Amino acid sequence: MNWKLFWSSFAFLILSTLLFFYFFFPYNEIKFYSEEEVFNFTLPTYNSEMQFYPNMRYPGKEISYKISDECTLKKKNDMEFAFDIIENLTVLEFYPVFVNEEISVNCNERDIVEGGIFIAGEGGPTKVVRGEKFNVILKGDILLIRDSQCEKPNIAIHELLHALGFAHSLNKHNVMYNVTSCNQKIGEDIPKLINDLYSYPSYSDLSFTEAHANIKGRYLNLNMTIKNLGLKSSERAEIEIYTNDNLIKKVDLGPVNIGEGKIITLENIWTSSLKIEQIILIINSDFEELEKENNKITLKIKNEKN
Ligand SMILES: [Zn+2]
Repeated sequence: MNWKLFWSSFAFLILSTLLFFYFFFPYNEIKFYSEEEVFNFTLPTYNSEMQFYPNMRYPGKEISYKISDECTLKKKNDMEFAFDIIENLTVLEFYPVFVNEEISVNCNERDIVEGGIFIAGEGGPTKVVRGEKFNVILKGDILLIRDSQCEKPNIAIHELLHALGFAHSLNKHNVMYNVTSCNQKIGEDIPKLINDLYSYPSYSDLSFTEAHANIKGRYLNLNMTIKNLGLKSSERAEIEIYTNDNLIKKVDLGPVNIGEGKIITLENIWTSSLKIEQIILIINSDFEELEKENNKITLKIKNEKN
């Protein structure tokens, strides 16, 4: 036996095993956090006191409705007249459907008395997704109880504006005053607010809302939250992960509904770089979004002295 060869092979084996462990297994941990403001709020809050919640709107400016067959012809006509009036004053368009309507109009022949006064009707958003940018109305309901005695269908207009997110006005000449009368008018601020809110296209808006990472040895662990802050469900997108400037991994992001989010946790991603200064995460979408700037986030080493 060649002992010299044996010992040198043995030493080589030990050395390569040590190197292997040094190379592949954790020896220290480095934490990465985002220093930037994660959420970029760019949308102004419009006259928030006029609506139940700020920036309430339906996903699109074409809004579907269905009037119940139980409604009298008078109420049906009043409601359609109210849709016409709001259409003429704003960018909104209302169209009838048979199923899955956004605004449901119902009629109840019985008078409802509340606090000693007859209730003319009721209306309001009944399904709202509260997002950081918009409070998105997915469903609105209108109940017409009393017939309007006015030339203009003030009760139907009042309830429609409730369904569009508008609250009561303290001005008794305004159609949104809580007691109806024929001389009430739609204030100019209402169509203006509607047109401001619906000036944004019905796009989705994927955004990082939280992300952090750590590196143990040569392995990267990542945690990120992505939300859809927009007005439409998003299509499939891809998340790209870069260490320094090298693309190390792509992750599929399926569709995300309005107001919903996804938490993605990735563990033990192999990285070849020895010294990582920063980790960049990018949401790569090939569809239009309200904002693309919030599709990128940079994570840097956390300064433990702070
Ligand atoms: Zn009211």
